Amino acid sequence: MVIVGRLLNTDWCQCTNCSQMNSVPESICCRERDELRDLFSSEINCITRHAMFNKRCLSQDQLIHTLYLIGTFTGKVQNVHANR
Ligand SMILES: [Zn+2]
Ligand SMILES: [Zn+2]
Repeated sequence: MVIVGRLLNTDWCQCTNCSQMNSVPESICCRERDELRDLFSSEINCITRHAMFNKRCLSQDQLIHTLYLIGTFTGKVQNVHANR
């Protein structure tokens, strides 16, 4: 997977809740996360749609989505791709 070219667009987003980010490591979709894959279903297309998630952040989906992804992905993106 190529992670360059993610700036100034959200073409990489598969959940439709991601927004344009200032750096490539931040520009990652929750759907790209292997350990989150089990949480998704036909009704839950984004981590923010998961019940566990909604209880905590009903009104702040976008913010939490971003914070969550940054916190989870920082420093891990390169390892994921190095293993491919
Ligand atoms: Zn997304
Ligand atoms: Zn998402």
